[in-house]
Amino acid sequence: MTKMNSPHLRFPRAILFDMDGTLTEPMLDFPRIKAEMGIGNHPILESLAMMSPADRQAAQDILHRHEDLAARNCRLNEGCQSLLRWLDDQRIGQAIITRNRRSCARIILDRHRLNIEVLITREDGPFKPDPHSLLQACERLNVPPAEAWMVGDGEYDVLAARRAGIPSIWLSHGKTRPFTDEPNLTIAQLPDLLHLLQILRDKAPTDT
Ligand SMILES: [Mg+2]
Repeated sequence: MTKMNSPHLRFPRAILFDMDGTLTEPMLDFPRIKAEMGIGNHPILESLAMMSPADRQAAQDILHRHEDLAARNCRLNEGCQSLLRWLDDQRIGQAIITRNRRSCARIILDRHRLNIEVLITREDGPFKPDPHSLLQACERLNVPPAEAWMVGDGEYDVLAARRAGIPSIWLSHGKTRPFTDEPNLTIAQLPDLLHLLQILRDKAPTDT
């Protein structure tokens, strides 16, 4: 169920991945976390930044409890391992760009033995939907933004990618898109991404 919005995607030199819900199965129940934090439907990290120190500490404890639990229990999405292995074989650069914490990302990477060279977390500066973290990843991978892809299941992934000038691929898990920003491409699941990459690689001119 891959929907091509842009036939102009070219074989990428690097892929930037969102973590929660993209490489891993969705484990963070954002509506529940927001309800416990008492922030209505406002974004979590932005709400934390605006709180008084005492409120922030309490709200942060709630968030950390959910993030830690998810990190210790989450499973990878179907096709994740074979996709990453294939990218390794093709020498395509890989990065994780997450609004989660570094310690949680490390737990997930270690538990599943994922070896992704660039990991950018919320400790690393302005986070998605700010394009900063995506541009930082491109720089570290030494790939121009237009030659990378951003793959994610969230609105902020698509928005940050557009702001960074990076083609975006939205992972739908078979659902209708709940936001208006148009990704360059929608895929239902990770095996669709591998399939698309294989098609594009076979079409790409070979180096002489
Ligand atoms: Mg996500």
